[in-house]
Amino acid sequence: MKRIAILGSTGSIGVNALDVISKIGGGFSVVALSGDSNSELLIRQARAWKPKIVSIGNELLAGKVNRAVPKGTKVVCGGIGLREIATRSDVDMVLFAVSGTACLIPLLDAVKNRKEIALANKEALVSAGPVVTALARKNDVRIIPIDSEHSAIFQCIYGRPEYVSKIYLTGSGGPLLNVSAKRFDKLPVGFILKHPRWKMGRKITVDSATMMNKGLEIIEAKYLFGIDEKKIEVLIHPEAVVHSMVEFSDASVIAQLAVPDMRLPIEYALTFPGRSKAIVRKVDFSKAGALTFRKPDVKKFPCLRLAREAAASGGTALAVLCAADEGAVKHFLERRIKFSDIPGVIEKVMSRHKNARKEISVEDVLNADSWAKEETDILCYR
Ligand code: NDP
Ligand code: MG
Repeated sequence: MKRIAILGSTGSIGVNALDVISKIGGGFSVVALSGDSNSELLIRQARAWKPKIVSIGNELLAGKVNRAVPKGTKVVCGGIGLREIATRSDVDMVLFAVSGTACLIPLLDAVKNRKEIALANKEALVSAGPVVTALARKNDVRIIPIDSEHSAIFQCIYGRPEYVSKIYLTGSGGPLLNVSAKRFDKLPVGFILKHPRWKMGRKITVDSATMMNKGLEIIEAKYLFGIDEKKIEVLIHPEAVVHSMVEFSDASVIAQLAVPDMRLPIEYALTFPGRSKAIVRKVDFSKAGALTFRKPDVKKFPCLRLAREAAASGGTALAVLCAADEGAVKHFLERRIKFSDIPGVIEKVMSRHKNARKEISVEDVLNADSWAKEETDILCYR
């Protein structure tokens, strides 16, 4: 029985993870769940799964959750609550499905405590790539990615990491693939939140539209697989069947293919190194039609350039990129800035940042994160 904690169980990935566990047919026990503002769903999940502990991010909701969860379920809250869960001795695997950088410290805690890590969250790894990967190496902890492209790359590389020469990171192109950049300043929030291929949380859906999601994924791949960003090429693949490809030294390319459904990379992370039964639909290749690939338009999507610049700089530039993006997306969703303002806001914050370019600590990352969020607020509240 693998004992699992799901941080961010009330989000899109968290709900899918519980669905996978319920369909996989045994072998897992859900020890801990967490939510931030959606106390109703967290309570329903606690009643259904009877975990030993739940954490609610919004401390004002702790009393309500406490009164409603089953007897025997402990309620904790805030950042401390996530840390308590990540370090419990009765947890084998922690699945990180919280959005943003809020789960960086619990992630480091879980690595220090040698938990198995199933990582959906990308912002913590991008902000603090060198810190997280060094700690994981030191503690001999393997991070199993859930992000679909990285799950694909992980599966392609597994067993032959020394022969990798290049990574092809695919992306469907997002909702704006065929929308002219001239219209970007008039696109409302509702339009941006409709993604043609994936149903996801709001932040990552906006990131898909600006293509910052793909930019963050370049950095995510750099640190997960220890490969220089120059060897990572983004390819637009609107059919979203090939989830990424890896080229090896002999020019052979291995790809992972499946229908676009996040439950498969979640299932893979839970069952690694084994595999379980199919929960998602199988690809019908006789009906799949043509699979196409092309280069992204970096002029139309400047966030790809900004992410590559941060990847090349390293240091605290990574945390600044992430925090400025998180801030800019929040201000767009709250209708303070236009969609077309997002890359400019991020670029301005990045240009004001003095990168230490040294070996960074977690404190450096946290300081850069809060500095960049404040700078973003200053720019967007004007
Ligand atoms: P959602 O917005 O749907 O869910 C986020 C979860 O995190 C919710 O449970 C939310 O709680 C919780 N949360 C948000 N902020 C905080 C906080 N400050 N403290 C504690 N908990 C918090 O996001 P997704 O599920 O879409 O994405 C989660 C992560 O996975 C992201 O990093 C994303 O980039 C990554 N990812 C997602 C994919 C997807 O298909 N959705 C694909 C690949 C990666 P509540 O809802 O209760 O407020
Ligand atoms: Mg992805």
